[in-house]
Amino acid sequence: MINPLSFACQVAEGVPGCSALYLATSDLLIPNQRWQNTFGTMSRLRDLQRLEIDVEELRNNILEQDKTDGEIMKPLDNESVRVLVITSIPDLPHMFFVFLRDETEAYQLARMRRDFIANVSHELRTPLAVVRGYVETLRDHRFQTPEYLNEFLPIIQENTERMNNLVIDLLDLTRLESASAIKLIPRSLESEILEAVSATQIHAEEKNIKLSMPHIDRVTVMADSTSFQRVLINLIENAIKYTHADGLVEVFTHLDIDVRDDQQTVTIHIRDNGQGIPTDEQERIFERFYRVRKAATGVRGSGLGLAIVKHALHLMGSEIHLESTPEKGSDFYFTLKTVKP
Ligand code: ADP
Repeated sequence: MINPLSFACQVAEGVPGCSALYLATSDLLIPNQRWQNTFGTMSRLRDLQRLEIDVEELRNNILEQDKTDGEIMKPLDNESVRVLVITSIPDLPHMFFVFLRDETEAYQLARMRRDFIANVSHELRTPLAVVRGYVETLRDHRFQTPEYLNEFLPIIQENTERMNNLVIDLLDLTRLESASAIKLIPRSLESEILEAVSATQIHAEEKNIKLSMPHIDRVTVMADSTSFQRVLINLIENAIKYTHADGLVEVFTHLDIDVRDDQQTVTIHIRDNGQGIPTDEQERIFERFYRVRKAATGVRGSGLGLAIVKHALHLMGSEIHLESTPEKGSDFYFTLKTVKP
């Protein structure tokens, strides 16, 4: 006949995750290996009390509610959001299983969702308030004169544009979240870059910025054209936006051989001599809605551009890199494998 205690111990050991067997009568907690790894030597019931878990109370609750296999949950800490689950064992009223369930990931996802919605609402609120204010003013016939209309309509249009851009960025991010949105096909690197440069040229001219291409390799890369254009345009637009008038923005490439697999690669640089990015903020600028406070004053943007760049490149099997010196300029670059045309 199997010794029930050793049987229960074996079960505790076999349960995936962090679990322990609690014996009410002997006031003992028998931990499995993962429990010991998490709590160290802390495996006795009184140690569990140190975690401010009133096991007795939890046990009584189960008994009072006449539950045989119910669970009572108690969050353990806020940092890593772990939940302690106590489960009674049918036919063994003096034994309980104690599980530790890690819910950190679910918690972080929920927090990211909350932050995301708060950020979107915040970004929409300002332009919406402006449009609403001006439309209300214009309903008053005293303001329905050509002078006022000339003054107000461009402001309404600009703010509508801002909301529209935000919605486009959000839709892009959502589209990129499904990997099937990307279709990699052979593309000429030169034509992709030329297309992006001609789309952004007008903004460079407005600030008298020289937008040049000192060297572009004539190679073929596997890319999704829509996403590739988005990456290039976002990076060039940023270089123009965050560079002073009369500055310089360069798009250039260089070839390399990846020694690990003898594969030819091409690195695409978008370099400017603008205001640069403070070292401690260089990681953060790729987060959604993050904008360098000092740089963003007076410059329009949603803070989503680089998050889109990072995501799109990831789907294309690449990643974005940055070298930047405040007051000197920034160099954003990424590498793609080349293929035969
Ligand atoms: P935004 O819509 O604000 O331009 P991005 O995600 O494209 O959003 O960029 C995030 C932040 O990174 C910008 O607000 C800006 O502070 C900084 N940044 C991006 N590109 C450059 C650059 N080329 N030079 C300096 N700062 C930059």
